[in-house]
Amino acid sequence: MAKHITIPKKFMMIFIVTFFMSNALATTLLPPNDIADRFHNDSVTIKIASSDFGHIVQEIPAAVFYPNSIDDIASLVKYAYNNSVPINVAARGQAHSTWGQSLARDGVVVNMTSLGNRLNGSGIIVSSDSSLGSYADVGGEQLWIDVLNTTLQYGLSPVSWVDYLYLTVGGTLSNAGISGQSFRFGPQISNVYELDVITGKGEFVTCSPKENSELYYAVLGGLGQFGIITRARIALEPAPKRVKWLRLFYSDFSAFTRDQESLISKNERRDNKALNYLEGMLLLNQGPQDLSFYPVSAYARINSLVTKYGIIYCLEAAKYYYDDRESRVEKELLDLLKGNLGFLPDFMFEKDVTYMEFLNRVRSSELFLRSKGQWEVPHPWLNLFVPESRILDFNSGVLKNIILKQKIPAGIVLIYPMNRNKWDDKMSVVIPDEDVFYVVSMLHSSGFNKWEAYDNQNKEILQFCDGAGIKVKPYLGHYETQEDWINHFGSKWESFRARKALFDPKMILSPGQRIFNNN
Ligand code: FAD
Repeated sequence: MAKHITIPKKFMMIFIVTFFMSNALATTLLPPNDIADRFHNDSVTIKIASSDFGHIVQEIPAAVFYPNSIDDIASLVKYAYNNSVPINVAARGQAHSTWGQSLARDGVVVNMTSLGNRLNGSGIIVSSDSSLGSYADVGGEQLWIDVLNTTLQYGLSPVSWVDYLYLTVGGTLSNAGISGQSFRFGPQISNVYELDVITGKGEFVTCSPKENSELYYAVLGGLGQFGIITRARIALEPAPKRVKWLRLFYSDFSAFTRDQESLISKNERRDNKALNYLEGMLLLNQGPQDLSFYPVSAYARINSLVTKYGIIYCLEAAKYYYDDRESRVEKELLDLLKGNLGFLPDFMFEKDVTYMEFLNRVRSSELFLRSKGQWEVPHPWLNLFVPESRILDFNSGVLKNIILKQKIPAGIVLIYPMNRNKWDDKMSVVIPDEDVFYVVSMLHSSGFNKWEAYDNQNKEILQFCDGAGIKVKPYLGHYETQEDWINHFGSKWESFRARKALFDPKMILSPGQRIFNNN
């Protein structure tokens, strides 16, 4: 827990925060009186803010800022911007990044959740109007689980999700926010009507596709580079009640991807017959499987199947239903799947769960890993967008030839396709230039001091793709040099750079991404 510094009123005028700059020169700064007591620099607070979910990068900030209100954040950024030596500022949602993206060496980390704790942020307010229909105005600091719980009280729900709900709205919108719904509803950034943003100059700006649109498009997928999101207006639709949840096993990768692509080709938002969710994952012959989804009676035959093939591809699909007519959704699913799918007969498993159980499915694994002390460990993750035209080469060169052959257990590997037309090219995020592309998430966990083996494997994968001409784009990625970032953004770099000059000209925001301030 953060230790709050109480400053007697008479000393408010002279409260001093000492910032130790990287060149070992100590710079003494005087924050304005109205926000002086929001800075904390006790050792416990600093330690927490120096690391993230990745537990690989460590960057020590000078102070952590606990805003009481959105105005406090605007005052902080103005102060950081106007200071004779500009001060770096990083919004920290849940710090569930894995490569230091929410850290700020020698700068100020803004503890966004303190807005939610004090109920002084934008909160979560459900409304509707004739042009947009239903929507929720949600603070950037809010967790998706809280958005879900609140909107469900109105019988409503966002349509696009992330697999794990204990992430902040501002954090996921700064990346994209993807999950099995993205093929049909687009990523989370495609489902935002409007934003309130505090820019790198400390200006509070409301933006949307019609108003201040340059900022709106910059911020969505903008890696925190252009402003701090304090409110997002999120599209809502009627909430389903229950979910039919299927897993189908394949030994043949071509059949697996052919079926995934065929299922996502039916993707109209309003087509009630389309799937609501599609993902995929690997079962690898490298160690014990997580078999909790399956009936105990199937464990032995699943294990022997995985042993036989070494690698099994599991297609995961879901169909929502809005009333209690399970039989109808069952029929719709069978209509969708019947006949042409190439999964292994006898290896189709299904569950029927509540909508909440489905969306919050990762929570039980988190609690289990926490109880075993395996949650707060290094996470050398690699997430890639892979062009559809090269996914077979990716399978043979990476999944079979690198991941399966390594002695280190791969952990969770997700693989599923998305439709490019559900993404808006004006937004900052970069995706492959093909109608369909895959996300491949290699979600490794390792012991402390053991993450380098995964990092080396990640580098080997990127080198292989480079050599084979597979034009992958990292998602949630990190680079060491600006040149790498320029390559990453490709034709979007010029507009990314120009937007930075416009909205954060002193380059103080989200320094942990190491795009503009590689210090
Ligand atoms: P942080 O890590 O705190 O911040 C990330 C970046 O955004 C930083 O640069 C930070 O400065 C900036 N930022 C934070 N808040 C704001 C704000 N309000 N305004 C502007 N910038 C801000 N991602 C997916 O897309 N799909 C998934 O299914 C998914 N599953 C995940 C599961 C787990 C267990 C974990 C750990 C991560 C997962 N992620 C997933 C990745 C996740 O979306 C990103 O790491 C995201 O950044 C985490 O949100 P956060 O609130 O922790 O952000």
